Amino acid sequence: MLAGLSADPGGALVFNQVRSLLADLETEQHRREKYYLALLGVVVDALASSLPAGSTGQLELRLLLQRLAPPLSESDFQALRYLLDRWRKVQESLPEAQVEALRGVIRPLLEGLGFEPAERGNAPEGMDYTGEFSVEAASAVMASSAALDAATPPDSTIDQEIDELVASTELPLPSSTARDDFGALQKQINDELQRLMRQHREFGVMLEVMDANLRVLDTQEGVEEARRLMLDELAKHMEEQEELGRELEHTARALEAISEDSRRLNDELYRVRQLSLTDELTGLPNRRAFLRRLEDEVSRVDRYGSRLGLVILDLDHFKRINDIYGHAAGDQVLRRFSRELAALFRHHDLVARYGGEEFAVVMPNTSPQGAENALAKIRERCQEMVVEFDNKAIRMPTFSAGVVEFHAGESLEQLIARADAALYKAKGAGRNCIIVGESLTA
Ligand code: GH3
Ligand code: MG
Ligand code: MG
Repeated sequence: MLAGLSADPGGALVFNQVRSLLADLETEQHRREKYYLALLGVVVDALASSLPAGSTGQLELRLLLQRLAPPLSESDFQALRYLLDRWRKVQESLPEAQVEALRGVIRPLLEGLGFEPAERGNAPEGMDYTGEFSVEAASAVMASSAALDAATPPDSTIDQEIDELVASTELPLPSSTARDDFGALQKQINDELQRLMRQHREFGVMLEVMDANLRVLDTQEGVEEARRLMLDELAKHMEEQEELGRELEHTARALEAISEDSRRLNDELYRVRQLSLTDELTGLPNRRAFLRRLEDEVSRVDRYGSRLGLVILDLDHFKRINDIYGHAAGDQVLRRFSRELAALFRHHDLVARYGGEEFAVVMPNTSPQGAENALAKIRERCQEMVVEFDNKAIRMPTFSAGVVEFHAGESLEQLIARADAALYKAKGAGRNCIIVGESLTA
């Protein structure tokens, strides 16, 4: 419309004046836009901080904040309107304390800009302040970065939470005390999992928000901007995931240390258990181990009806060895005799040191005849055997033995008493003798 004027010399003057007027107006408009945006940024940030950490509303407002950069496009305004509409309800339902905190942030800004708190009745409905927006006042407020800093809410609770979490990732190092920290470690894992879940939730919300944004965006720039925001969020998300991954790895190492400790403890328990079942002098199972095994075998016979033999044997005149060669020599003879016994019986027989110079052999699936045969072999082996001790050759003593077969229904005590009785008989029969105990049923 004005272009026609420029052709005419008089018109050109008017044209230039109008053009410079329009340029001034545009500059003024840009300045206003900039200040409004900055103010809007402070308000939206304050509102975001007043919402629960990690909530959908907070995240949406954060994303909105990132969009607020001049010049605003039409699609920016649409997204703004959409989000503010959506969150107006949240603002309305904010608890009074949060609303007050929000006002605390906004009030100094408005007052700095020359707005006055409204007297009752003299402000338009829904407005708490009266006054005109002036670019000069806005410039003054914006120039004072200290005022802005003071108005900027502190770091969000989420960031604080994350900082605290990172600070508390000092995990117990692999050590013997790792076990004591098991409770702490459990809490650690729990926290890390919660954090992982929260990150995923936030990411999910971010995608939802992006999706909603994309629906209202209709320009290429708007879509580009949304794409850039999404990539930023994605990079942030990946960074957080990586950090969490490192922490989880740390936790896994601590768990490994604990499981290593527990393995060692198990080994130790096994060792102690073995010790409690082993005779120290001969290395044979002791009386406790013998009774336990005998009990097991008896219950097996009760269930499957198999046979079970029991031998109790005692070295003849053993006291003499001690008397003649000394106790240490006696020990040596006991060790040697034990070795012979253990080597001769089958590995599923249990050879135990029953006490002093007495031994017991549990023989599953064995008849008294079989047991007798085994004992005869031992006797034969020991006949010519000598034990070297302190440059002296000590003859292996003979032994006497009682052999019995378990009979259904009898108790362990009865079974052992019968074997003892047979052994006593063997001693009475002149020693170096094997007696098979009478059968209860015979
Ligand atoms: P018997 O033919 O009647 O069995 O005569 P014995 O001398 O073998 O039997 P007695 O019960 O009179 O003596 C057993 C001896 O065995 C006495 C005890 O000092 C000895 N003895 C028991 N345990 C040990 C041990 O661990 N080491 C040594 N060196 N001697 C032991
Ligand atoms: Mg003896
Ligand atoms: Mg004895």
